[in-house]
Amino acid sequence: MQEAMIKRAKELLADGTVNRVMGWKRGEFSYDITPAVFETAEELDAEFVCDDLTQANVSKYLIKESRKEGKILALLKPCDTYSFNQLVKEHRIIRENVYVIGIPGGPKIDIEKIKAKEISGILSVKNEDYTLKIETIYGTETMPYYEAISGKCENCKSKKHVVFDELIGEDGDVLESNRFEMVEKLENMTAQERYDFWRDQLSKCIRCNACRNVCPACTCENCVFDNPKSGIDNKAAADSFEENMFHIIRAFHVAGRCTDCGECSRVCPQNIPLHLLNRKFIKDINSLYGEYQAGADTTSRAPLNDYSTDDCEPSIVHERGVE
Ligand code: SF4
Ligand code: SF4
Ligand code: SF4
Repeated sequence: MQEAMIKRAKELLADGTVNRVMGWKRGEFSYDITPAVFETAEELDAEFVCDDLTQANVSKYLIKESRKEGKILALLKPCDTYSFNQLVKEHRIIRENVYVIGIPGGPKIDIEKIKAKEISGILSVKNEDYTLKIETIYGTETMPYYEAISGKCENCKSKKHVVFDELIGEDGDVLESNRFEMVEKLENMTAQERYDFWRDQLSKCIRCNACRNVCPACTCENCVFDNPKSGIDNKAAADSFEENMFHIIRAFHVAGRCTDCGECSRVCPQNIPLHLLNRKFIKDINSLYGEYQAGADTTSRAPLNDYSTDDCEPSIVHERGVE
C-alpha cells in the first residue's frame, strides 16, 4: 500500500494537481514515524513511510499548510477524516487548498506496547502474518500483532472516510464500537472512587502540553494556557487543583468538537487515558442532545453551538437521569 501512495503522490506532483505532500517519515528511531511534508518525487522515494506504526493524524498540520501557496496532498486514514472535516467546518483548514486521498486505517501498532514486553534496542518491526518480527540490537524477538494494537485503534469507531477526493483501497463502514465501556465503568464507581481514579491518573501529568499541542480541536490562536497573565502558562502544575484544572478546562473547551481521534492519549508520555475524559463528554452529549459525531459532516450544527426550545436544561438533565 505504501508503494501505491508514493506512486499516486508522484503523479499528482507531476501533473501539477498539488505542489506538496503531507505524509510521514522516520524520526530519530526507525519506529518513530513522524509527520512530514514532501516537495519532490525524490524526497518521496527516499523518506515517505506509511506502515503499521504510522499512527499520527496529520489533520492539524493542514491548518497552516492549507494557507500556503498551492495545493497540498493529504493522506488521511478514516479516523483522520473526521478531524479534517471538523477543522474545515470551523474554518481552520481551507478545503480547496487540500487534495485528500483516503487511505486504509489500522489497526496500528503501538511501539510502547512492544517496549512494555521488555524488548529494547529496537531496530525495526515487521508484521509477518499477524506476528510481529522485532529486530533488536540483541537479536530477533516475536510477539502476536494483536498484543501491540494501539489504544486508539482498539475501540475504532469507523472505517468510513467521511471526506476524500479519491481513495486508495476500499472504503469501510461506521462500526459498532464498545468505546464507552470504560466510561460506563467509571460512571458506576462511587464519586470517591472516581475522584481517586482521576487523581491517580492526573497526578502523573508533567504538564508537557503534548496532549493540547497534538489535539485537532485545540487550535486556538491564543490558548488560555499560553497566556502569560494567567499565572498558569507553560508551567508544571503546582498542586492537585492545577493538575485537575488544566484537564477539566481543556475537556470543556473541546466538548462537542472532539472527534475521539485518540491522539491526546497516544502522545501522553505518562500514559494518562485522557480520551476517557473526552469520551464522557461525548457520551453525555449523545444522551442529552441525541447522537452526534463531531467531524462526520461539515454542515450540521453542533449540539453545544445550537439552540432549540427542547434544549436540555438542568431540570431535563435531572429527568433523564444523567448524573
Ligand atoms: S500529554 Fe500527558 S503529561 Fe503531557 S500535559 Fe498532557 S496529560 Fe500531562
Ligand atoms: S481531545 Fe483527544 S480525542 Fe478529542 S480531538 Fe483532541 S486529541 Fe482527539
Ligand atoms: S486548551 Fe482551550 S484555549 Fe487552549 S487550544 Fe485548547 S481549546 Fe484552545
